[in-house]
Amino acid sequence: MEDCIFCKIASGEIKGLRIFENDETLAFMDIAKDVDGHILVIPKEHCKNILDCDLETLNAVAKTVKTVSNHLTGNCGYEGVNLLNASDESAGQSVAHFHIHIIPRNTNDGIDGWPKFTGAKEELESVFEKLRM
Ligand code: 5GP
Ligand code: ZN
Repeated sequence: MEDCIFCKIASGEIKGLRIFENDETLAFMDIAKDVDGHILVIPKEHCKNILDCDLETLNAVAKTVKTVSNHLTGNCGYEGVNLLNASDESAGQSVAHFHIHIIPRNTNDGIDGWPKFTGAKEELESVFEKLRM
């Protein structure tokens, strides 16, 4: 997609630090330098997020997320990972090309890898009635 920064990284038009790739997906270093080892996994073909991507794309991304995560714990000295995703601007998505963040973790590494929620406003049962499928 024109003017999509992650499409340009996928195609090689813009440089990315490529950790792993296959025909469908790419894992590369996030540029933020906010936490050591911050990696993004994207599909090479553009879709915006989990809400509009097809299942084949989602499966390919999930497979690469697992491959990279197992590499981090199996070969790079990490014990675990946080996986983060924002789907839609309402959820905080800032780059409109589907991506999963991988944050490598170790016990007592001091990283705050989970959002601090402010507390539920509604009763559990009433939210359940609204959400059940
Ligand atoms: P979001 O806020 O959409 O969940 O995450 C977007 C991520 O993309 C951010 O963590 C941000 O640092 C990263 N990012 C934005 N522009 C670039 C770029 O040009 N190169 C790389 N490697 N990462 C980027
Ligand atoms: Zn794109």
